[in-house]
Amino acid sequence: MCIKSSAPCWVEINLNAVGHNTAQVKELIGSEVKLMAVVKSNAYGHGLIPVAQTVLGQGADALGVTHLEEGIALREAGIDVPVLVFRPLLPGEQDALVRFGLTTSVSSLAQAELLSEAALRIGVNASVHLKIETGMGRTGFVPESLMEVAELLFSLPGLEWEGIYTHFASAAGDPSFTRQQFQAFQSVVQDLAGRGIHFSLRHVCNSTAALLYPEMRLDMVRVGTLLYGQFPAGVRNPGLDLQETWSFWTRILHLQQVRRGMTVGYGRTYRVKRDTVLAVLPVGYRDGFGLDVQPRPAGLWDLTKVVGKLILSYLGFPVGSHYVYINNIPAPVVGRIGMELSCIDVGKITDIGIGIPVRIEARRTVVRASIPRLYQESSGEDGGVKAKFDVDMP
Ligand SMILES: *Cc1c(COP(=O)(O)O)cnc(C)c1O
Repeated sequence: MCIKSSAPCWVEINLNAVGHNTAQVKELIGSEVKLMAVVKSNAYGHGLIPVAQTVLGQGADALGVTHLEEGIALREAGIDVPVLVFRPLLPGEQDALVRFGLTTSVSSLAQAELLSEAALRIGVNASVHLKIETGMGRTGFVPESLMEVAELLFSLPGLEWEGIYTHFASAAGDPSFTRQQFQAFQSVVQDLAGRGIHFSLRHVCNSTAALLYPEMRLDMVRVGTLLYGQFPAGVRNPGLDLQETWSFWTRILHLQQVRRGMTVGYGRTYRVKRDTVLAVLPVGYRDGFGLDVQPRPAGLWDLTKVVGKLILSYLGFPVGSHYVYINNIPAPVVGRIGMELSCIDVGKITDIGIGIPVRIEARRTVVRASIPRLYQESSGEDGGVKAKFDVDMP
């Protein structure tokens, strides 16, 4: 069953900007280093297939996804470049991977054995990248345990060991840990080379590392964030000219006069400070609005800041409040964001009316998770192709 939402919210994707950003990254890394464009999570909310076509049109060499299904969707759309599936496969998924000619990551001997069996059954070699655990703590062979099983692993029939890689845990925040991870990776590569095992694609860099550590680019970089017009948190590179690829919009549903002293929304957390006008927007946490990722504080100072902000917001200071934009004029969200509706104070904005478009500054990481898979193409004012997404439930 498919329930379509008619909520007047939409995301605008500028595919030209995605193409421009891809070309920028290509120029940065040069012709010696391959570009794997990461298109997981529906291309960071931008639409898997149109983005894949766009980045390939600008010279990306390979695509990276998290799940097998994403790889299959690329193949079914006729895309035949190398596609690496990052996550480990579940038992039963190996046959499809081999049949669709996708590449998988292997983090254990058991995974490799299942894949080898599938390759033999189907009669086609499976392309594999060996994943090394160097400090992310999620997937990959721990170097010592790899050496214990290496002989068995690399003698399994039907597997083509094309690549070897690792993933950085804190490329922007912790240079010494990043170098340590890189060292650990390089020594695994060296040990394996000593045993006569070589890989044509060694890769460790995500967007942050590709920017900060040119010497770590090796044979290929795996870049997502930069293609979507964002610099990773804490990283700036003036040499790279990135364009915005994404914006999230809604419309004013209703205007509500409110008096000083009234409260707004669930829990009555906001008290109106002066007579004003509120605009009601059809956007809420269902769309990811207001849901920010709250990582555990990284240290005492971080914890102090978190607690400080909580106290200020309890006292009514607009700490961490969300703003939306009407004709580029900011308007604060007041009261709790609901499942489907939110309120903003528009008392200071002139030319306000029902149906007026409102741009929402929401963290992409959040909104993209709940946005829509359907898209329609239309042409942009500048003549470029834009794909428009309606907020929709798949
Ligand atoms: C998501 C992901 C990337 C891309 O990371 P960005 O920081 O968005 O460039 C690279 N490698 C792996 C394994 C990933 O999961």
